Formats: sequence, C-alpha cells, structure tokens
Amino acid sequence: MAGDDYDFPAFRPPSEANSLLLRVTRGCPWNRCAFCPMYKQIKFERRSVEAVKRDIDTAKEYTGGKVDTVFIGDSDSLVIKTEEMCQILDYLHGTFPSLTRVTTYARALTLKRKSIGSLEKIRSAGLTRLHIGLETGSAQLLARIKKGAGPDTMIWGCAKARNAGFEVSLYVLVGIGGESSWEEHALETAKVLNEINPDFIRVRTLTPQPGTPVFQWWNDGSFQMPSPETILKEQRALIDGLSVTSRYLSDHVSNYALVDGDLPSEKAKMLSVIDSLIARLSEDVAYRTALEGMRYLRRL
Ligand code: SF4
Repeated sequence: MAGDDYDFPAFRPPSEANSLLLRVTRGCPWNRCAFCPMYKQIKFERRSVEAVKRDIDTAKEYTGGKVDTVFIGDSDSLVIKTEEMCQILDYLHGTFPSLTRVTTYARALTLKRKSIGSLEKIRSAGLTRLHIGLETGSAQLLARIKKGAGPDTMIWGCAKARNAGFEVSLYVLVGIGGESSWEEHALETAKVLNEINPDFIRVRTLTPQPGTPVFQWWNDGSFQMPSPETILKEQRALIDGLSVTSRYLSDHVSNYALVDGDLPSEKAKMLSVIDSLIARLSEDVAYRTALEGMRYLRRL
C-alpha cells in the first residue's frame, strides 16, 4: 500500500510481505557492511513523530483500519528516543486495534546500548519482534565484513532483547566465509546461535551485489565465492552444530537448499534433505549449473 504522500520502507523481511509498511527512520545509521547495498543511496534520517502519525492516518484511509501486522523501517529505528517510539506504537495500536504483530529490523549494538528498561517500555507499547542481522558468529569474519559488532555484542544485544520479551529473529549469511572459511563460519555461527537461542533463524545466501566491497573482493580475487557443494556443506555443518529450540527458515530467494523446520525435532529430516541435494550435485549437471547461476542474482 502506498499513497502519494505515504513514506514506506524500501526493504522488509520476506515474512512481512503482507504487513503494512511504516517508515520511522530512513536509511541505515551504520551503512558500512561490506555485503550490503540496501541503503547506500539514502542519507540516514529520523522522521518526526507527527510525520509518522500522518502516515498511520493515511494507512487507515487506505485499509479501512483492517491491518493485522506492521513492519517498521528502515534498518535500525530503535535508535530514536524511547519515548518517541512508544508514542508511535501507542498511536499505531490505537488506530489498528486488531494488530497481532509489529516488527522491525534492529542492530545488536543498538540493543546493547539501550537500557533494559527502555526495551521493556517499547515491548509493552506493542513492538513484538526484532529482525537482527547476525550474518556470522565468526569474530574474524564479522570484522572483515565491517558489521560493527563482534560475537559478544551479538550475544549481549540479543539476550537483552529476549529478556525484555521480544521475539528474536536472526539472519545468517550463508557463503560469507567463501571457500577458505566456510567451516569456521558454520561452526562459530552455530556457537553464537546456541548462546542466543533465538525464536527464528533465517538464512540468506550471499549474492555479491555491484557497488559493495564483497563484489569488489570477488572481482579482484581476494574473495573466492563458495561452490554449491561448499554452500550446502556449510548449511549442513551449521544445522548439525545447533542445539537451539528455534524455527529454522530458508525464506529467501537466494537460498540453494529450501530447508525449514523446528529444531531440534526436525534436525535429522533437514540434514537428510541437504545430503540428498549434495548427492544430486554430482549426478545432475543442469542442477549444478542452476545453483552456480544463483550467485548472479541481483537486486534482492
Ligand atoms: S546490513 Fe543492516 S546494518 Fe549493515 S549496512 Fe546493511 S542495513 Fe546497515
């Protein structure tokens, strides 16, 4: 939904495809991650509470008030003042009384910096779920991709969010270890996820986008894109190393293995799907070619 004057986020998680999109900030206050092309053309801005309320009013006119879920953009809106976020959430819930879910992206460093009291206030005002980019649990890889947070910050920020009552959905970037560090990436990521025990683990597979440092590294040979076998082996090692009680989802078009399931109960089934895909790679040339082409997907 978008009217002429309605300012909606440029990006949202796939799981929010049917949600009302509401922009509270524009862009990313960090904007340095080496794989990310998302907000490179946008200067970070905080929108005023009044402007956001006007968007909520416009959304009500378009929908007749029938909205069940809302996604708040852009990439790190919890950087605004707690009181402002609570005012926006109060107005949102007052306008759409049937809301069952309100989510947003959040950076682990922002969560770590917020007090637990502030996070609890925001949770009580009706923000229910946080989508957080972990990408990898490897300290070395997090530094290389300039994520701006190491494993400890990821664990600390996510623990605070969970203690404040949020559902936590973490994103993992399959392939970011390349050919040389896939195993470290898988094992260290499993370790961090085991510490956090998030509600959801969502995987996306690296597709280097023009204009990003990772694309440049790939072109100059300092980063070797992993083969389809490596991608699948990495996912296998990740799932195998998990001792969480989380829902694992491959809900992104970039993924090679569409493996979903509840952990730990469906772990064996998920591993066997990946094993069959690895076996298929050595028998089916067309399948291998299709997977090799996935790295050229653009504008995801
Ligand atoms: S991955 Fe997230 S935190 Fe990193 S630059 Fe992109 S939007 Fe910002």
